[in-house]
Amino acid sequence: MKKIKIHNKNFKLFISHEKILSAVEKIADSLNEKLKGKQPLFICILNGSFMFAADLFKRMESVEAEISFVKLASYKGDKTTGEVKQLIGLSQNIEGRTVVVLEDIVDSGITIENIQEQLRQLNPREVIIATLLLKPDALIKKVQLDYVGMEIPNDFIVGYGLDYDGQGRNLADIFSIINE
Ligand code: 5GP
Ligand code: MG
Repeated sequence: MKKIKIHNKNFKLFISHEKILSAVEKIADSLNEKLKGKQPLFICILNGSFMFAADLFKRMESVEAEISFVKLASYKGDKTTGEVKQLIGLSQNIEGRTVVVLEDIVDSGITIENIQEQLRQLNPREVIIATLLLKPDALIKKVQLDYVGMEIPNDFIVGYGLDYDGQGRNLADIFSIINE
């Protein structure tokens, strides 16, 4: 079993690049069908989703698709709102459009629920959510995930765009933490 070390933590090979790509291809096949004639705007949630977005987007062969890259920026709200996460970087007008959100992984679901809510306020025609990975055991929010590449256990992972403290995003495979 292939093992790696990032900072002070050990990880083992969990999902090969080949398996990741076959999950991406399945999502792409469904989206190519669903989005025909719709001129969708894909929205890649940085940083973690950049590899998933690249591999998926180049498989959108039957669709006149556009893509935009956004980030969630944290800032302190007032006493009642606490920490607020605002979606930044979206320059297009999405009113009346089909929007496809590309997320790397849904854990508690808080992030994706927040993104969905902020997008809905901009009056798109529909918001479709596609996540490469889902940790069902960690999910605490009831969000509708339209496309899920793979369900995984509730362990910390790195690779294929996902980092551990800045490192590991360049790994082609996904690695899972070894709890020692
Ligand atoms: P949520 O808001 O659903 O709890 O978390 C979503 C975000 O947390 C993801 O977009 C991702 O950036 C990060 N995340 C969740 N689980 C993992 C993981 O196992 N590894 C890494 N590197 N990031 C994760
Ligand atoms: Mg993410």
